[in-house]
Amino acid sequence: MNIDLANFSPSVDATKAFLAKQEKKMLIGGEWVAATSGATFTTHDPANGEVIASLPRADKVDADLAVSVAKQAFESGVWKNMVPAEKAKILWRLGELIDANIEELSELETLDQGKPLFVGRWAEIPGAAEQFRYFAGLCSKIESSVIPTSIAYQPEGKRVHAQTRREPVGVVAAITPWNSPLILSVMKVAPALAAGCSVILKPAEQTPLSGLALQYLWQQAGGPVDTFSVLTAADPRPISEVLMNDMKVRVLTFTGSTEVGVILYEQSAKTMKRIALELGGHAPYIVFEDADIDKAVREVMACKFRNGGQTCVCTNRV
Ligand code: ADP
Repeated sequence: MNIDLANFSPSVDATKAFLAKQEKKMLIGGEWVAATSGATFTTHDPANGEVIASLPRADKVDADLAVSVAKQAFESGVWKNMVPAEKAKILWRLGELIDANIEELSELETLDQGKPLFVGRWAEIPGAAEQFRYFAGLCSKIESSVIPTSIAYQPEGKRVHAQTRREPVGVVAAITPWNSPLILSVMKVAPALAAGCSVILKPAEQTPLSGLALQYLWQQAGGPVDTFSVLTAADPRPISEVLMNDMKVRVLTFTGSTEVGVILYEQSAKTMKRIALELGGHAPYIVFEDADIDKAVREVMACKFRNGGQTCVCTNRV
């Protein structure tokens, strides 16, 4: 496929409609809202530097609002207490909607991030849809167990009873990078929603559009609007400060650089959050003596330089 990236512009009506709709708005509690301060920032097409969209520049006040909305949604039980099979239907439907909007989402991703269109269309967008279907299946399989106890003391005539109980932990903050914006966000959002949590997504400042599109599809799928919010921000630091210091946020899930991972690790310690950090990789590429060297060289180029070399699984050592 030969795509002229420098001259690539939205050609699907849905993409244009989406870009027009979200002008200067982000999604908190299912509402398209401006930043409380009214400030905005722009996202660019990296192929030609042109402005694609103007977005709210969320700051601490907006992050506080998103946390309160997410916490209230969680406590209301609208999502966490929904029958697992009903949750599963919504997540499955979301997967189907991603598939149905594959052209729009691939174009958004290419416009905002710069990756070749086929990567989104053939790998990342269908992959994101599949994540939702996979986790839809898990909604009804969150089980507890009863554990036999072997402690010496047992109350007379009784046995000590031990059991685990898996419960959603509450509000989850997801901070995601720009290299594969939608699928890396979905890999955090889908399991958190399947578990019954509320989610606040803070996509990378360079690539906020597909996160907004995801929230939009979540609503179409019938997901409770307050349960999933998206904060767009030019500067991630004030946002993360709020998210990391607020006791109401119980989980941080992050993909990005090791340097920022360390900062978030430290910040989240004060409120004892559970954290999942997916940081830089050091994948080795091993070539054996009897290998076909030409083929090995071709393959290592693809391994190292896919997605502009900006992927955690890119080969770092040969
Ligand atoms: P990369 O080098 O891949 O761009 P980063 O770690 O810089 O990775 O960015 C990944 C995510 O972390 C993005 O959403 C970005 O906005 C956010 N981020 C960057 N710096 C900080 C910071 N100091 N505190 C919190 N989040 C940050």
